[in-house]
Amino acid sequence: MRSPSPFPDSTMAKISRRQFLRGDFSGAADAPPRLRKARIGSACLARQDAVCRACGDACEARAIRFSPRPMAAALPHIVEDACNGCGACVAACPARAIDLA
Ligand code: SF4
Ligand code: SF4
Repeated sequence: MRSPSPFPDSTMAKISRRQFLRGDFSGAADAPPRLRKARIGSACLARQDAVCRACGDACEARAIRFSPRPMAAALPHIVEDACNGCGACVAACPARAIDLA
């Protein structure tokens, strides 16, 4: 059975096997942490046809777009490449429908 690695996955991805065997973790120290991204869950009010754009208004990165639907409230979705994980939308959502992962 494999024992769990003491290093986070993002650290291991930044060094080669040879570096690992040499005990050279110098590259790992510079590895940027993975940014968390916003996720919108099923509690979103727009899914229940309530018009709400609080998350989009709070997002300075403009990473939340709304898809119009005929005869229904527009649905928000996250543009992952634009999301910087700031969490402003999490705080703004009245339904607590957004988290960071
Ligand atoms: S703020 Fe929350 S409830 Fe409102 S549209 Fe965004 S995710 Fe849905
Ligand atoms: S975490 Fe920040 S950047 Fe990402 S969608 Fe929410 S407000 Fe926008």
